[in-house]
Amino acid sequence: MNEQLEQLRAELNYDKTNKCVQCGYCLPACPTYLTMGKETHSPRGRINLVKMAGEGKIKDLSVLEEPLDLCLGCRACETVCPTGVEYGAILESARASITRRKAYSVPQKALRSLLFKKVFPSRKAMKLLGDAMWVYEKTGVQKLARKSGLMKKLPAHLGEFEAIVPPAVSPRERASLPRVTKAKGQRKYTVAFFVGCVMDAMFRKINQLSVQLLAEVGCDVIVIENQICCGALHAHAGEMDESKQLAKRNIEAFAAVDADFIVNNAGGCGAMLVEYDHLLADDAQWAERARAFAAKTRDISQVLALCGGIAGKEGPTERVTYQRSCHMTNVQKVTAEPVQLLAGLPNVELVEMAEANMCCGSAGIYNLVQYDASMEILDLKMQHVIDTGAVTIVTTNPGCLLQMKLGIEREHLGERVRAVHLVEYLAQRAGILDGNPSAQPKA
Ligand code: SF4
Ligand code: SF4
Repeated sequence: MNEQLEQLRAELNYDKTNKCVQCGYCLPACPTYLTMGKETHSPRGRINLVKMAGEGKIKDLSVLEEPLDLCLGCRACETVCPTGVEYGAILESARASITRRKAYSVPQKALRSLLFKKVFPSRKAMKLLGDAMWVYEKTGVQKLARKSGLMKKLPAHLGEFEAIVPPAVSPRERASLPRVTKAKGQRKYTVAFFVGCVMDAMFRKINQLSVQLLAEVGCDVIVIENQICCGALHAHAGEMDESKQLAKRNIEAFAAVDADFIVNNAGGCGAMLVEYDHLLADDAQWAERARAFAAKTRDISQVLALCGGIAGKEGPTERVTYQRSCHMTNVQKVTAEPVQLLAGLPNVELVEMAEANMCCGSAGIYNLVQYDASMEILDLKMQHVIDTGAVTIVTTNPGCLLQMKLGIEREHLGERVRAVHLVEYLAQRAGILDGNPSAQPKA
């Protein structure tokens, strides 16, 4: 084998593709195979393409681009695979190899560099984004833009996404979360809270409520100032070097406190944090530290359940369905705790939707860049939601939350169905929060 091919095999994680025995058990679990019906858009087909590239049978890696771009990265295939194929690792390395070789145009390069190097990793930039959203909403520009019909003319369906963005939080309210929030009553654990980048800019209220709930159940909560974006968006876009840099900065930042757990409230971020050990496995200097970080990482539902859950107040009976985040289910393997927390609330009738483990089509920015494919998957998901008769859809990931809101809009269910994050729902049922924080401002 020539040196070039050997190098490509290492880059592509070729050895991992050999674990696939072509059985096809993963096909019925794959949303893109189900909606597109093509072998190349199934897990088995994608693995084969990577394998062929590693064997030199496919010379031009751009052939892999479309099938891999259309993969949601939901990793449902991993959960059902009987031989334990690490599909996520294969996908990410293949995307990174394609990105490395791709001839981006100058504007594309500039945009990628701006987003991945300047915006997502900068808390200052994300704060500015949050502030800009508040100004846009409060000065009446939003109302004007919506009334004028301008939103309908925006490219790439941006107007549809604009309509589901949660109400902005004022810069004053957005002032940093307290550095330390003391546990109510006897302290059970000390936790370090991961604020995230998108969560912090767009869902600050959910972050505030998360800290309150953790304190409520008996945790001292520490918010570390110099933490940074988890790097998930970078990894999914093939920017692995950037992703590793962000992981190292977070490991360093969180090492400053001796917490029992590092807690997050976003399924996608949590999946990234919990896999820092895989990400940095080949880095002798960081591997051990990454393992220790990953071992302490928890979704908020795990810690709330561990501490005994939330005592909800009596109220009218409400039918609720839980939209599972793929990254929580298939990567973090957190499935029981959110259900346990919801089922523990008085007067909550929890109804599981059909194909509950199926991705909703959000998948990071998949719904923006692969709009048609994403909407086909969402429409299927919404039929299952409607069949439950639920009035509240509870999610545990910001992407799923926005996608559910979009689904509600598409199905014209806004009068009777709402979508909320688990944290908002628990806070409401505990009486910590009045009203619906995710409600859209009236245009
Ligand atoms: S990825 Fe796993 S389930 Fe799918 S074909 Fe390969 S071995 Fe079978
Ligand atoms: S990650 Fe999801 S969309 Fe991609 S191949 Fe696996 S099941 Fe299909």
